[in-house]
Amino acid sequence: MRVKVLGSAAGGGFPQWNCACPQCMGVRSGSLKARARTQTQVAISTDGSRWFLLNASPDLRQQILTSADLVPPAGSRNSPITAVVLTSADTDAVMGLLHLREFQPLQIFATIAVRRILTEENSLFRVLARSNPPVKWETLPIDRLMPIIPPSSTDKKSGLFCKAVPLNGNFPDYVSESLRNSLAPEEAVIGLTLVSKEKKLFYAPNLPGIGDHWVRCVEESDVAILDGTFWKDDELNSIQKGSKSARQMGHLPLWGDRGLLRTAFRPSKTRRVLVHINNTNPILNDESPESRIVRDAGWEIAYDGMELVI
Ligand SMILES: [Zn+2]
Repeated sequence: MRVKVLGSAAGGGFPQWNCACPQCMGVRSGSLKARARTQTQVAISTDGSRWFLLNASPDLRQQILTSADLVPPAGSRNSPITAVVLTSADTDAVMGLLHLREFQPLQIFATIAVRRILTEENSLFRVLARSNPPVKWETLPIDRLMPIIPPSSTDKKSGLFCKAVPLNGNFPDYVSESLRNSLAPEEAVIGLTLVSKEKKLFYAPNLPGIGDHWVRCVEESDVAILDGTFWKDDELNSIQKGSKSARQMGHLPLWGDRGLLRTAFRPSKTRRVLVHINNTNPILNDESPESRIVRDAGWEIAYDGMELVI
């Protein structure tokens, strides 16, 4: 399985257009040893020709244009992108779907709750149903492995399988109370275990860190790409008073009591990568002590253009 990180920042990107925090100013002026980053987007492929997007970033159009693997083959009007798998209905995870409305076969895998939020309550997304052929929604069941590329009849181990792992997160604020009350809470935020040829990727760019089900998913995977949004729980509050904490926003912080770095993983071969990094997070500065702490603890920090082979 090939895994491409097309974008690695949290909502707003790095630098964020309306932010003049020390890090955004530093990356703009070049005084900070840090890379600019677009909003989080990952793409995977098992054969190098068909690509699956994990969520659909607001920066998707630019990310497609700058990725050689995602260019349409000569003479064709079809992109190598064949499907999108959604982990939540968060704005940053779904905005890019609007870039994919250009009339080609496309599947979207999502929980029933996420599909209902997008199709029943947000009329803008109905443009996806108007393309010809219309987008095909596929239901992701909770905690059950399902084929998203069916195995061939001659090789049962081929194909690509996906399991939706409930992460105990909340629905986005924009969802109305009446719809929210009719949705299954475990379908709000999921992690994805993706399996191909007995190799496993676990993807959780939004990790509330409630419960410990997800810890086993990390330990059992070959590569885990996890939520690195915030360094500490009160990070935003120290820049703008009255801001929500990391945990209130559904992100387990890296540092501090019960933070991601304190999580005890059983020794395993798992390669652990942080993604969805907010512009305030000091790990974006390659020379910061926090960046060193993370790398010394065995974590990798994702950047735009990072590629992993599992
Ligand atoms: Zn900033």
